[in-house]
Amino acid sequence: MNTIKRIALVAHDNRKEDLKAWVEYNWSKLHHHELVCTGTTGKMIEEALTKKTTMPLSITKLKSGPLGGDQQLGAMIAEGKIDIMIFFWDPMQPQAHDVDVKALLRITVLYNVPTACNRSSADFMVDSVHFQQDYTPILKDYSAYINRTL
Ligand code: PGA
Repeated sequence: MNTIKRIALVAHDNRKEDLKAWVEYNWSKLHHHELVCTGTTGKMIEEALTKKTTMPLSITKLKSGPLGGDQQLGAMIAEGKIDIMIFFWDPMQPQAHDVDVKALLRITVLYNVPTACNRSSADFMVDSVHFQQDYTPILKDYSAYINRTL
């Protein structure tokens, strides 16, 4: 991944205010990166930032998470199009799309995508030296699995 990161931002409804506050607080570190959000999260962040800045925003809005947005994001991760994921999921409430949430978290581990699921982890991430520089995540070699004989 190069210095401009493609950052996925997702928050469940009960965590949206937390993510909004985090994005506003860290906007000076985030604004030159490309943001990819699930639909409602993206709309909320866009509205919040439009009030705060006149800078052009680079926010891609996918479908709403429960309507396929989590799966779209998972597909982007499988295609190497996401460098970092900030995902404030709700630990207190089951979601209609729990299976999609689980799949999204699984695919980030599979492809070694740095993932923060709470505010302090997200702070550590944007304050890491790797956030400012090129960084090549080491990918696990799945060739034995791909080439297995059945
Ligand atoms: P949303 O989706 O941003 O459209 O609310 C988030 C999610 O639940 O995955």
